Amino acid sequence: MDIRRIAVIGGGVMGRGIAYTAALSGYHVTLQDVSQDALEKAEQYIAAELNASVGKGYIQSDQRNVALENLAYTDDLQNAVKEADFVIEAVLELMELKTEIFKQLGLFAPHHAILATNTSTMSPTEIAASTTRPEKCVAMHFFNPVHKMKLVEIVRGLDTSDQTVEITRRVAAAMGKESVEIHEFPGFVTSRMNCLIGNEAMNMLMEGVASVADIDKALKLGLNHPMGPLELADLVGLDTRLRNMEYLYKQLGEKYRPSPILVKYVKAGRLGKKTGRGFYEYT
Ligand code: NAD
Repeated sequence: MDIRRIAVIGGGVMGRGIAYTAALSGYHVTLQDVSQDALEKAEQYIAAELNASVGKGYIQSDQRNVALENLAYTDDLQNAVKEADFVIEAVLELMELKTEIFKQLGLFAPHHAILATNTSTMSPTEIAASTTRPEKCVAMHFFNPVHKMKLVEIVRGLDTSDQTVEITRRVAAAMGKESVEIHEFPGFVTSRMNCLIGNEAMNMLMEGVASVADIDKALKLGLNHPMGPLELADLVGLDTRLRNMEYLYKQLGEKYRPSPILVKYVKAGRLGKKTGRGFYEYT
């Protein structure tokens, strides 16, 4: 099956990055969000990233222009997916929201369209069960920032077909990504590991073991992590990380109980880079 048109549902941190990378890879992309503000911010982000890439010589100005022409923005889900060959959902990490979106995708996307979720932790089987085409549903887990990170985790739900996995792998490759294939389990490979490391770092901070900067420095220089776990959590968004932890705690038990400091920061609205303040301050 020839994939030409991609719809991305949810234009936040991940959706805008997926839309940007797909458009630069030659796909016609429609980015949908219920929030006009999110759509405007996504459009500004994508234009700024494309201009920065031209400025640094990573891409030519005509590649930027084609990418911009490949992009459309809408707040109407039906309109976004009606001609899509491939849909990537990147809304908040909430099961009720994802199943509601997938129910609508099942109704409005063409019959041949593959429906992928960018969930970090959740069951693609449960999400797919809200559609009448579970064989065409899959998890396609990108990483942040999408245009820089090389990996996509492709996660099979119970009914995901081999053809769906193969097409998803091809789309990931066309977007410049390596992929790994995973059989569904909460948190897949990366989130299961990464959430635990981040949570332990937060617990250490709470216990006064070391400062934010020293915990991050210790993991970067001592364990060769490219980013510290606290700066990474700020980049992900502490609200998103808390939802990930809550889901893993529910599914996998005590080991994944969200650190109280994470809960406290989210209550205070300190959500990380996106709000200007998390474990670090951003100007
Ligand atoms: P985000 O909060 O930045 O963005 C979510 C967007 O969804 C918002 O713009 C919101 O307006 C939109 N939205 C809410 N309800 C909607 C609806 N009914 N229809 C359309 N749009 C709707 O979140 P994010 O960080 O981009 O995360 C999105 C998904 O990607 C989550 O499942 C998350 O677990 C996963 N993920 C996040 C990261 C990360 O580093 N942030 C990495 C990999 C995967």
